[in-house]
Amino acid sequence: PLPPRDGNCIFCKIVDGILPCHKIHEDEHTIAFMDIFPLSPGHALVIPKDHHPDLYSMPDDLLGPVMRTTRRVALAMAKGQGPDGMNLFQANGVAAGQTVFHFHMHILPRRTGDGVIS
Ligand code: 5GP
Ligand code: ZN
Repeated sequence: PLPPRDGNCIFCKIVDGILPCHKIHEDEHTIAFMDIFPLSPGHALVIPKDHHPDLYSMPDDLLGPVMRTTRRVALAMAKGQGPDGMNLFQANGVAAGQTVFHFHMHILPRRTGDGVIS
């Protein structure tokens, strides 16, 4: 069977290589890439390769792979001259600020006093 895809979804296009991205990790089920409008230096996104609009529609068996990739990327960023802290977040629904309806985790490196988000 074909993997779940949405022809109008920009993240599906990134997965399929139709849209370019600055990729930082790829495995069987997930990819991670830099956010095109970073809220802070190093702002990255982790997505499942399959199209699922939000957390509610994510199959159980993809939650582990996405979280493992999220931690792996966050750990790599935290090493050496890393940030002082790290926020992980994701939005569900327009009211929550979701703009791309293909599930994604935000990895947001933080510096003390940067005021990016409270
Ligand atoms: P949301 O607001 O849905 O939680 O997050 C969507 C994120 O995707 C935003 O931070 C936005 O900057 C990022 N984004 C939107 N379009 C693109 C794109 O074409 N490429 C990349 N790398 N990031 C994108
Ligand atoms: Zn998609």
